[in-house]
Amino acid sequence: MIRVRFAPSPTGYLHIGSARTALFNWLYARHSNGEFILRIEDTDKARSKEEYLDEILGSLRWLFMNWDEEPVFQSKRFEIYRRYAEDLVKRGLAYKEGEAIIFRVEKGKTASFEDIIHGRIEVSTDEIKDQVLMKSDGTPTYNFACVIDDAEMKITHVIRGDDHISNTPKQILIYNALGFAIPRFAHIPLILSTDGGRLSKRHGATSIFEYKDMGYLPEAIVNYLTLMGWSPGQDREILPPDEIIKLFDVKDVNKTGATFDIDKLSWMNGQYIKDMPLDELVARTENFLKEKNVIGGGFDRNIWRGVVSVYKERTRTLKDFIGVHDIFFKDEFEYDEKAVEKYLKKPESKNIMSKCKITLEGLPKFDKISIEGSYRKLADDLKLKAAELIHPTRVAISGKTVGAGLFDMMELLGRDKVVKRLERFC
Ligand code: GLU
Repeated sequence: MIRVRFAPSPTGYLHIGSARTALFNWLYARHSNGEFILRIEDTDKARSKEEYLDEILGSLRWLFMNWDEEPVFQSKRFEIYRRYAEDLVKRGLAYKEGEAIIFRVEKGKTASFEDIIHGRIEVSTDEIKDQVLMKSDGTPTYNFACVIDDAEMKITHVIRGDDHISNTPKQILIYNALGFAIPRFAHIPLILSTDGGRLSKRHGATSIFEYKDMGYLPEAIVNYLTLMGWSPGQDREILPPDEIIKLFDVKDVNKTGATFDIDKLSWMNGQYIKDMPLDELVARTENFLKEKNVIGGGFDRNIWRGVVSVYKERTRTLKDFIGVHDIFFKDEFEYDEKAVEKYLKKPESKNIMSKCKITLEGLPKFDKISIEGSYRKLADDLKLKAAELIHPTRVAISGKTVGAGLFDMMELLGRDKVVKRLERFC
């Protein structure tokens, strides 16, 4: 049975890089009908916070990563680490330095392992210093606790970021000293920013919860993160989680760094929005707007359904629907000043808007076909191009030069709102 683990330290929020490490572990477990366990590396009591832990677990759940068994907390296992350390002292493999316990590294040997992604890695023990196992404050070091826990938790595959590659030979020496079986290791490449450096705050949002807040869908994030370092071949890019589980294998992960490109993620998010069944998208956008306290008194779900159906092709994040909501359900929304200047401040603008308004007021039916017909006829009568009515009308009713089809928007807004907004420019 394959058993993997994700071992976050609750000293910060779950960021993109750790989420991808968790994801590769989870995918590998689910792909091979194995188990995915959480271990909370909370040995640093001062920096570990409940709030971070809650957020990490919440982000994992949000990204569909359900885990097996109860999470293991290192802070509850200090006695166990101490017993192993004392035992090594008794056997002459470790020594005390004040309150600290130090592992003696025997020189002239080789510590080696076969990495699933990088191949064979060998390090001479001449290059490894004696290792602190227990610090003088009674807490274990990462390398020591990690080995004991991975062994006791019967972890078969350790999948983690390749920033840990230099720790692994040290851990191998400790496995050997304790007589534990050594698991397989897979060190996955770091995530880089588009400028080639390590991904950091400087490049924008790095925590998963910030992406949730910006209106990204968990399916799109999972899909995008999976493609950072792995590919299903045949240039396939859009793969829902179930499909990825079928295809993913850790041995197929690339050696080289993967680049995080937010524009690509936004594009992918837009694809998921476009392809989502309408009712589901209506529900998700509504939830998102509720969470953001956007929805007020005038909200109408039937109208919203129509709005979502005409905007889904051109929206990249759920957040984009906030502006869309405001156009349809609020009288005061933002006008793009430049667009107003360009389309509604010409000498003839007022006259044209008045003619449009009068035409619309006189329509027997206010549906998009009638509206379009009346606009085309009015343009002919005024010897103008239809665009000379369409552009200013769009800006007047939505504040923007872009959006869904104008006649769709007008029908959804309804005659009253459209006429009142045109009046602002008559
Ligand atoms: N707590 C360590 C980290 O977040 C875990 C490393 C490991 O997976 O062994 O980097």
